[in-house]
Amino acid sequence: MKRIAFFDTKPYEREWFDSLNKNYEITYFETKLRAGTARLAEGFDAVCAFVNDDIDARTIDILLNCGVRILAMRSSGYNNVDFRYASGKLPIVRVPSYSPHAVAEHAMALLLTLNRKTHKAYIRTRDFNFSLAGLTGTDLHGKTAGIIGTGKIGRVFIDICRGFGMTILAYDPYPNKDIPAEYVDKDTLFKRSDFISLHCPLSEQTYHILDKDAFSQMKKGVYIINTSRGALIDSAALLEALNNEKVGGAGLDVYEEEADLFFEDLSGKIIRDDVLSLLVSRPNVIISSHQAFLTKEALENIAAETFNNLDEFFAGKPLTNEVVYKPSSETTNG
Ligand code: NAD
Repeated sequence: MKRIAFFDTKPYEREWFDSLNKNYEITYFETKLRAGTARLAEGFDAVCAFVNDDIDARTIDILLNCGVRILAMRSSGYNNVDFRYASGKLPIVRVPSYSPHAVAEHAMALLLTLNRKTHKAYIRTRDFNFSLAGLTGTDLHGKTAGIIGTGKIGRVFIDICRGFGMTILAYDPYPNKDIPAEYVDKDTLFKRSDFISLHCPLSEQTYHILDKDAFSQMKKGVYIINTSRGALIDSAALLEALNNEKVGGAGLDVYEEEADLFFEDLSGKIIRDDVLSLLVSRPNVIISSHQAFLTKEALENIAAETFNNLDEFFAGKPLTNEVVYKPSSETTNG
């Protein structure tokens, strides 16, 4: 039986892998995969990693020295893997689509909460404070949604927004003519949108796509939703834009420095990240800890597709979901 080392695992995902596993001997490690922990993979045939593992060139070398033959990401994003360095040495597979609905629905949950202030109402009424002061929102109907990235998740999110009667602006270097949205350039999207939701991958091109200059072009009071990757937003610039009331609120499922924080209970610890501490303290900022994917359907699909990726590899078949490094276009998936 092939041996798989799972890193950065939590009980809520292990139950799905255990229930669907037929072919593998699995060892779950709670620790994240990085150069300092990669030796744990000694003697394993494959490693399975997640979004906040740090799979840099050193980690890849250690995995190869340990005899690991394939890296299976149980995520769609792989910005945390040095796939250029791995190319030709260590095959990488991922789960490109497990439930775009899970992520898109969470993005809308963040927007609705931000807009109608249900997070505040919940706390008030638990204390029998039934005042409505300060809870006024706006109708989403008739407003303009700016969507950056119109792939699988962006598309579902666009459909949800259309259901609310919103006008849709979209920016994507690869526009999809089947999507009912007006494709515009980034600056136009910044200027015209009442809220902006990010659904593009993190890459050299999209790093800090929302920065000081981008915020300066936006409508006063714009809402920002990010369920994609934290480093798409310059967090310090976002904080400044919230402070000067250019941005009216932010719903963040991801944060650029989340790797050592998210997925853990740090409620008894001092958080030495002043930007995050200030963001958390703002009443018009809602942070969830990278949970947009967390539905039963998504967890089941992630487990099934990860096993399918591994089965293909160990059967010597072509890899449907391989991350292939193409120097011209940076990334692709098979
Ligand atoms: P996808 O590959 O189907 O779509 C991504 C889209 O972004 C594509 O249409 C692509 O053309 C576009 N894009 C590429 N470069 C761009 C750029 N410079 N500017 C604007 N658009 C650009 O991916 P998806 O399944 O829709 O996922 C989108 C992202 O969501 C993932 O990359 C991942 O980071 C994130 N994600 C987050 C969670 C979560 O739990 N929070 C879960 C899954 C995925």
